Amino acid sequence: MSICHKGLKTIEDISHICDEYFQSSYWLSKKEFSEFYLKLKDMDPTFKMNELLIYLNYVKKYPTFRQLSSMTGHSSALLQRALKKVVELVCEIYEQEPYNFNDRLNAKPILLKGKLVYAIVDTSIYKIERPSPSHELEKLYYSPEHGFHGIKFEFCVDTDGSIVWASGYYDGATQDLKISQISDLVKQKLEPNERVLANLGYVSKDFEYFFLTGGKDFIPPDATNEEVYMDKVLKEKRSIIENLFGHQKSGLGILKQKFRVMEELIKWRRSLHCKPELGWCEFETCNYLYQELKKIGYAKQDILLGKKVINVDYVRGRNKILVEKALEKARGNGVDEEMLKEMEGYTGMVVVFDSGVVGPTVALRFDIDCVGVHECELQEHIPNKEGFRSNATNCHHACGHDGHMTIGLSVAKWLFENKQSLCGRVKIVFQPAEEGVRGARPMAESGIVDDANYFLSSHLGFIAKSGEVVVNPTNFLCTTKYDFRFYGSASHAGAEPHLGKNALAGACNAATQMLAIPRHGNGMSRINVGVISAGTNRNVTPAYGELQLEVRGENEEINKFMCESVERIAKGSAMSHDLRLETEIMGEAVDLTNDKEMIQLVSDVVSKHSELKVIETRIFGGSEDATILARRVQKNNGKAIYFVIGSDLKAGHHQGTFDFDETSLLTGNKIYTECLFKLLNKK
Ligand SMILES: [Zn+2]
Ligand SMILES: [Zn+2]
Repeated sequence: MSICHKGLKTIEDISHICDEYFQSSYWLSKKEFSEFYLKLKDMDPTFKMNELLIYLNYVKKYPTFRQLSSMTGHSSALLQRALKKVVELVCEIYEQEPYNFNDRLNAKPILLKGKLVYAIVDTSIYKIERPSPSHELEKLYYSPEHGFHGIKFEFCVDTDGSIVWASGYYDGATQDLKISQISDLVKQKLEPNERVLANLGYVSKDFEYFFLTGGKDFIPPDATNEEVYMDKVLKEKRSIIENLFGHQKSGLGILKQKFRVMEELIKWRRSLHCKPELGWCEFETCNYLYQELKKIGYAKQDILLGKKVINVDYVRGRNKILVEKALEKARGNGVDEEMLKEMEGYTGMVVVFDSGVVGPTVALRFDIDCVGVHECELQEHIPNKEGFRSNATNCHHACGHDGHMTIGLSVAKWLFENKQSLCGRVKIVFQPAEEGVRGARPMAESGIVDDANYFLSSHLGFIAKSGEVVVNPTNFLCTTKYDFRFYGSASHAGAEPHLGKNALAGACNAATQMLAIPRHGNGMSRINVGVISAGTNRNVTPAYGELQLEVRGENEEINKFMCESVERIAKGSAMSHDLRLETEIMGEAVDLTNDKEMIQLVSDVVSKHSELKVIETRIFGGSEDATILARRVQKNNGKAIYFVIGSDLKAGHHQGTFDFDETSLLTGNKIYTECLFKLLNKK
C-alpha cells in the first residue's frame, strides 16, 4: 500500500491508476469509488476526495494512526478530522437523514409519573485507533467507560424503535449528558410535559428533563416497580440503537452491496431480455431462473416445478406444437434434462423461502413470458446498441416481464441474505403465459398460494413514469378469451351442396350475432371477435370454421353475462347449421380490489424514499391475470395488492420499440424487500 493520498485530488487523478491496484488499496473499484465520492460531495460540497481515501484505507486495513500517518504523509490531526467527517456522512446515508424529531409523536408514548415519554436517548461509540502520540489529543478520544478511543454519537429513538434524532459526532471522552445539552436536545426539542428516558449517565441539574433508569447492567436495590419497568424499556430500545450503530460500522459493506444490486439487476435483466419465450414455452427462461437461484444458494427442494405448481385441468391456450418446438430448442441449448423432466412439459416455477421461524406466508408473483412481436432493428434502440437484443424472430420482451423476473430474482437473493432477521415464509411465483391471461388460473388451482396471508404483484410502466408508484390502480377488467371451433362436412358445391354442412356459415352467423349482444346496464362491457377463419376451396362446402374472441366486463357479473351470451350464440349457431361445436377457454382474468392495509404498506415504503412519489390511484383499464391469484388469496382471508412501478418507456407496451428505464428495477427491488421486511421482520 503506497499510493500517496496527497497527490490525488480529483477523479481525474485516479484515472491513470490501474483498477486492480486501486481496489487492492481502497477496497472499491474506481467506478464505485467515483460514485461514492460524488454522493458524499453532494451531501457536503466541502468534502475532499482525500478524506474518502483516508477512510477507505482505514476501514480496509485498520492501521494505527501512526502507520496511517506514515503511509499517507498526513498529520494525525488531519487524519482524525477526515475520518470523523466520513463516518458522519456514511452514518447519514444509512440512517436516512434528516431525522424528524416530530415523528416521535406518531409513536405510542409511555406515560410515566404523569408525564409523557416519546423518546429514549442514549449514545453509542464508534471505535477508532489511538489517535496520536500527543497525550492531549489522545485524552479527547479516550472513553474510560468503554476502555478505548472512539467517536461518539447520540441517538433518540421513539417508543416504536425508529430513530428520530441523531447528534453529530463528538470526541469519545465527551459525557453523554453533555451531548444532549450542547446539541440542544434537552432544552429546544422537548415539549414542556415531556421527558426522555435515559440511564444514570444523565444525572445532572437537567435532571428534570430525564426519567432515569439504573442503566445497562445495574438496577439499584431500592428501585421501585416503576423504575424497574423503565429500566426494561430502556434496555429494549438501547439494543435498537446498538443494532443501528452496528449497521453503520458495516456501512461501507452495505454501500458496496447497493452498487452491486444495480449492477446485478442490469445483468439479470439483459440476460433475460436476450432469450424471450412465448407463453407456455418458457423452458430456457425457467432454466435461467433455476440456475441463478441455485447460485444464490437455494436448494433443489426449494424450487417447485411442473404439476406441483400447475393444475393441468385449467391450462389455457397452450399450443402443443409450439411447446414441443420450444422443448426441442431448450434441449439443443443444453437445458438441464433433469429439470425438464421435473417440469413435465409445463413452464412456471415457485421458489419457497423458509426462514425456519414461525410467521406469516407471503406470496409474490412475477410473470415470465414475452410478447409475439418483432424487436425493432433500429440502431438507437438500446438493446441493439448495447448488444442484448432478442435472439428470436417475432419474440420480444415488449411488456417488461424480463424486468419483473429480475426483481423476483433480486428479492430471492435479498431473502436469502437476510434470513436471520426474518420470520415466516415467502413463495415467489414465476408465472408463465401472462400474455393472453392464461397462466394464472392453473397456478391458482394448484393450490400453491392457498396458505398465503399476503399477496403482492406489480407491473412495470403502463400508467406511470419513472419514480412514480401507483399504489392503487383501479378498473382491472374481467375477461375471458375463447376459441370456438365449428365442425361440419365437406361436399361438392355444385353437384351435392345438400350433403354439406357449412361451418363457415355457422362461424359467420355466430360472429355477427355476438357483436350484437346488448350492452350491460350495470357497467362497462367489451367484445372483440379478433379472428375468423374457415374453408378450404371455392367449390367445396367449408367443413371447418373457427372464431377467436374475447369478452370483458367491469366486474365478474358483467363478464359472466358476456360469457353466457357468446356460449349460447355459438351453440345456437352450431345447432342451426347442424355443426359440431368445440369450445375452449384460452385465457381469463378477474377484477381486483386492493386491500386497504396493503395499499398503506406499499405507500409507507414508497413515501420513505425522497426519489419516489406515491400516486394514490389511476385507472389501469386493462386485464391482468395476477388478479386470479390475488382473489384466491383474498378468498382465503389473505390480503392482496397489485401496484404499478412507473418507468419511462421508449414506446408503448407490446411494440417493437418498447424498452423501459432500468432504474425502475431498483425501485421494484426496494419496494418488495422493504415491504417484506415490514411483514416478516423478526423484531
Ligand atoms: Zn403484455
Ligand atoms: Zn405485462
